[in-house]
Amino acid sequence: MANSEYEYVKREFEFDRRLPASNWIVVRIDGCHFHRFSKIHAFEKPNDENALRLMNACATSMLEKFPDIVFAYGVSDEYSFVFREETEFYQRRESKILSLCVSYFTSLYGMKWKDFFPNKDLREPPYFDGRVVCYPNMKTIHDYLAWRQVDCHINNHYNTCFWMLVKSGKTEKEAQQTLKGTFSKDKNELLSQQFQVNYEDEPAMFRKGSSVYRDKVETKVKTDDYGNPIKRIRLAITVSNLDIIGPEFWEKHQYILQE
Ligand code: ATP
Ligand code: ATP
Ligand code: MG
Ligand code: MG
Ligand code: MG
Repeated sequence: MANSEYEYVKREFEFDRRLPASNWIVVRIDGCHFHRFSKIHAFEKPNDENALRLMNACATSMLEKFPDIVFAYGVSDEYSFVFREETEFYQRRESKILSLCVSYFTSLYGMKWKDFFPNKDLREPPYFDGRVVCYPNMKTIHDYLAWRQVDCHINNHYNTCFWMLVKSGKTEKEAQQTLKGTFSKDKNELLSQQFQVNYEDEPAMFRKGSSVYRDKVETKVKTDDYGNPIKRIRLAITVSNLDIIGPEFWEKHQYILQE
């Protein structure tokens, strides 16, 4: 269609928004109506481990597909993908980057579903929305990720209490009423006194969410003439459930954002 009389519709009406240079790019995707989706597919409440593992597997494949994603953080039905500051992925065109992330993730979710739910058919198509935000420096990226992990904690703490109450026989309304106005300390007391549960013993994936990144791992490549192993450091995509709010994780993994 090049040079046809209609070509002006592209030339004069299509505009690419390019994301500002020297900014970190974050794409956050979130499942649409997953409250309903999780009910229809009988997800365990409050945390269906297989559903979370499926999200993590999709995120891992995202890092494999798009080398410019340096870090991903996920919880519930959402995942954030951090592109390196200097990325030239699709010349930083916003609509390309966003649409590729959302559509590739959605396809992966459908393709991998059977690996995690071999006995459940997909009863409706999963779909995700997405947004792009730029952050001007590493501090704001750290703060962005901390914000998501704090959110994970607040929601999971509440949901853990809520579902304990519901499973013990309260109605959802009564459970909501019981938790209204409670502080973190009250929730811990409720869990330990009524249900003999120490919140800190709940699985880390539920409490901390999941991080995906290329970690330095030592692998044995061969043995030398004396039978000693020769080791090499290589980067391997890793999923962990660590605290990313404090400085420890980032001090240990400086290369993730800096290389
Ligand atoms: P929206 O379309 O606005 O995002 P939503 O129904 O997806 O609406 P969210 O705020 O994104 O609402 O919340 C996601 C919902 O999906 C949670 O309420 C939770 O019930 C459910 N959910 C997601 N992942 C899991 C999981 N692994 N286990 C159990 N429930 C889950
Ligand atoms: P880009 O990623 O830039 O979009 P592309 O390879 O998808 O690259 P397009 O310009 O979108 O390139 O063209 C789509 C290509 O897909 C066509 O060249 C054609 O070869 C192939 N294709 C799409 N649909 C069909 C179809 N129904 N039958 C045969 N080939 C098809
Ligand atoms: Mg959602
Ligand atoms: Mg959500
Ligand atoms: Mg095409």
